[in-house]
Amino acid sequence: VIKVYSEYVYRNRQMFGVLFVHRDITKEFEVDQMKSEFVSTVSHELRTPLASVLGFTELMLNKTLKEERQKKYLTTIYQEAQRLTSLINDFLDVQRMEAGKQTYDKKYQDILPLIKQVIEVQKIQTSKHEFDMISDQEHFTVMGDKDKLLQLFNNVISNAVKYSPDGGNVTVKVYQKEHAVYIDIQDEGIGIPSEALGQLFTKFYRVDNSDMRKIGGTGLGLAIVKEIVKAHGGDITVQSEWKKGTTFTVVLPLLYEVQYDEEMISTNDNRK
Ligand code: ADP
Repeated sequence: VIKVYSEYVYRNRQMFGVLFVHRDITKEFEVDQMKSEFVSTVSHELRTPLASVLGFTELMLNKTLKEERQKKYLTTIYQEAQRLTSLINDFLDVQRMEAGKQTYDKKYQDILPLIKQVIEVQKIQTSKHEFDMISDQEHFTVMGDKDKLLQLFNNVISNAVKYSPDGGNVTVKVYQKEHAVYIDIQDEGIGIPSEALGQLFTKFYRVDNSDMRKIGGTGLGLAIVKEIVKAHGGDITVQSEWKKGTTFTVVLPLLYEVQYDEEMISTNDNRK
């Protein structure tokens, strides 16, 4: 984007020329665009849960309700307030990550219990989907930040549910290849058009079509996932078929013990 200024140049109060100044403002233009995208996403995404909180609170204040109904409304208010908190946390996370201020508290971490925990929470939230978890080992130990890994699995698995509105299976396969653990999260949902695949991990990006517009979101979840995966020395890839389903594959480096080969040790001994 080029901005052109023109200035008239005077000498002795007489104009004798025009000066044109060209300036490349691509970066400023992008930042402005990002800001307006941010403001519209934030206001739209925050407004929906806030409207529920206000609506149900008003109902409870103005009507005498049976205990059962009260509980139902309170549950909705609680869930929507939780949604607001997680939206705000996402915005803060992205900001911290961009400023390079995100910290990771890495410890020995078996990832299977974390994935199981995320699936259990999803099971409570949906009755339309079936979940399968397949793994060829009992433990997959990585050096990782527990909360951040939970956030990573939660974002990808909850997307698998969210973008499979008619239900279907969500299958999580965990297996080892060389010195890494692979986690495939496969759904039978609406899929992603091939031209969108390259942009999925860009913040605020959402596939723009009529199926997708009905489903709310900020376009931050996968940008956060990518940052977390990178911070753990891993990677994430995606394969998808429009209207058939999607598979995200997360790869994380495994911690492994050096296996001492007996033959190697005896050979070394012979050399002494
Ligand atoms: P959000 O879900 O808040 O829009 P994400 O960053 O998590 O943001 O995802 C970005 C976009 O990628 C989504 O808007 C959606 O278009 C697409 N997407 C992510 N996961 C899936 C999936 N499992 N199936 C189909 N589309 C998906």
